[in-house]
Amino acid sequence: MKITIIGTGYVGLVTGACLAELGNDVFCLDVDQRKIDLLNSGGIPIHEPGLEEVVARNRAAGRIQFSTDVAASVAHGDVQFIAVGTPPDEDGSADLQYVLAAARNIGQHMTGFKVIVDKSTVPVGTGDRVKAALQEALTARGVDATFSVVSNPEFLKEGAAVEDFMRPDRIVIGHDKTPEGEKAAAMMKKLYAPFNRNHERTFWMDVRSAEFTKYAANSMLATRISFMNELANLADRVGVDIEAVRHGIGSDPRIGHSFLYAGAGYGGSCFPKDVQALERTARQYDQDLLILRAVEAVNDKQKLVLGQKVIKRFGADLNGHHFAIWGLAFKPNTDDMREAPARVLVRQLLDAGATVAVYDPVAMEEAKRVLALDLNAAELARVRFATSPTDALSGAEALVIVTEWKAFRSPDFVKIKTLLKHAVIFDGRNLFAPEAMAEAGFEYHGIGRSILT
Ligand code: NAD
Repeated sequence: MKITIIGTGYVGLVTGACLAELGNDVFCLDVDQRKIDLLNSGGIPIHEPGLEEVVARNRAAGRIQFSTDVAASVAHGDVQFIAVGTPPDEDGSADLQYVLAAARNIGQHMTGFKVIVDKSTVPVGTGDRVKAALQEALTARGVDATFSVVSNPEFLKEGAAVEDFMRPDRIVIGHDKTPEGEKAAAMMKKLYAPFNRNHERTFWMDVRSAEFTKYAANSMLATRISFMNELANLADRVGVDIEAVRHGIGSDPRIGHSFLYAGAGYGGSCFPKDVQALERTARQYDQDLLILRAVEAVNDKQKLVLGQKVIKRFGADLNGHHFAIWGLAFKPNTDDMREAPARVLVRQLLDAGATVAVYDPVAMEEAKRVLALDLNAAELARVRFATSPTDALSGAEALVIVTEWKAFRSPDFVKIKTLLKHAVIFDGRNLFAPEAMAEAGFEYHGIGRSILT
């Protein structure tokens, strides 16, 4: 099938590459000329396991192209995926300007029937707004072309995006019951047929329910994390090991093991903004989503917990103190630092007077970019960008781990001990066993495990 992807970011590039891999003829559009130039010269703008190979293979086969040419992109795809960003507005609601601009662009150029697929995460009712924006552009041109707007939210996880796209748990498709809506559904069914070969994974519903499903999913996951973080903070006070509790409750199939990890708080481009946007939708309908308000408040507090543990141990005035930080990306296997807890920790330690050496296996370039936005020149001068995990340790008083990269899971503790001034580890992801840490001669501070330290 001929597919256009509007917005070649995390979701758009992965969607385009994977649909090309299945044999479709894909046109990826972006407004960012530098991104398109990079892709056309063989580069990949994001770190995502397996993505580079899929893109290279399909470019070589002539199944994927990258361009900023709007007219050509509209002419290309019978199916037009909108995968542009929906960042939070000042009031927390989703900013739909990019989605609506994409819709208008389609309306300004289309001549025949198109399926418009909303893959961006958008609030309930956006399908109607996309329809209206597109129709307005068509009417202004005096063109009488038909189209249908479909909602197909994306559930991929950064760091495992290609794998998730290729082996989805489920595909959610919302469409209208009109003749155009049914025609669009039939085209979507054909497009996604390869994923449904062994068993049907597609859930068909109306557009509004599909839009809502994405927010419900992310809000549920964020709720589990904040729930465990809140319990972990209590565990610290009452002498309980939250890791034992996690195993104890996760083994109940009604609860399950996923997303029960206490830690340094959730970040990334999705959970914080989607929780906020759903709260905002509720407020527009005079409902207060109490649980989600608490989820957000707990997470904001949780991002401060690691820094507070450092301050409790080394004092409120950290002038003259130097710390190593391992892990800057908001989670492993990505270079994404949007809303990353590490950014809060760096700010907190600098505010208390400390200097830091930071290291991440893939997010160093991104860290240089975002920390230059977060910090002023004098603050930035107190951050050293280390070249390796061990380089970060030299001269540091303690190690603070923020992201659970595999490379940090079995480090050389003997070496760590010789490099650190004090054998102190703050483990924001509970990577290590406290007993083993004690045996190795470390003072160990996990999250919700103070009984053992
Ligand atoms: P992103 O910022 O990485 O990419 C968006 C891209 O759209 C950018 O390259 C931008 O230049 C481009 N763009 C903006 N306006 C455009 C226009 N009018 N025409 C063409 N291109 C345009 O964003 P992302 O992380 O891929 O997220 C996209 C959407 O998918 C968001 O709604 C997000 O909530 C949702 N989502 C993201 C993830 C994730 O893990 N990142 C997962 C599921 C859903």
